[in-house]
Amino acid sequence: MRKIIYFLILICLVAGSIFLLKKPAPLSQTYCAFCDPAVLARQAFYEDNLVLALYTHKPILPGHCLIIPKRHVERFEGLSKEEELQMSELIKKVNQAAMKVFGTSAYLLLQKNGREVGQAVPHVHFHYVPRKAGDSSSLKFILKMYLADLRGPISSAELQETVEKMKQAME
Ligand SMILES: [Zn+2]
Repeated sequence: MRKIIYFLILICLVAGSIFLLKKPAPLSQTYCAFCDPAVLARQAFYEDNLVLALYTHKPILPGHCLIIPKRHVERFEGLSKEEELQMSELIKKVNQAAMKVFGTSAYLLLQKNGREVGQAVPHVHFHYVPRKAGDSSSLKFILKMYLADLRGPISSAELQETVEKMKQAME
């Protein structure tokens, strides 16, 4: 038992160090993944006049989506009132769809503004990360959040299949 506790403490220290020591990546001034038509064609499962919902290619847990404005806006405070409202409504719609597709019952929303807090893409995006009871321990969940950038993307077949399921569930 003691060995397991030491092992868990070691994992936390390593993960914490990676997170803290990792230099924030400079935000690209020229390329934005969320304005890239190829990225949107692969990952978007909902679109209206102002907002989009995407399935991430590196999910922390199954059902991890991104809710973004269509307009290139770097930070939350740059959103118009209409965009704010439609993003909130879309988060709720995505939640309904994710509950159907993934059988989840709870969700985490995460939104970063500025590279000092780890914003990697200079375009407002809400991470929607759903969970269900017993899908992962809380410790694993926190580790997965910290290490999300280090994980490889899911296969394009899995991405396509999930986008298709979410599209249908949004109707
Ligand atoms: Zn953009």
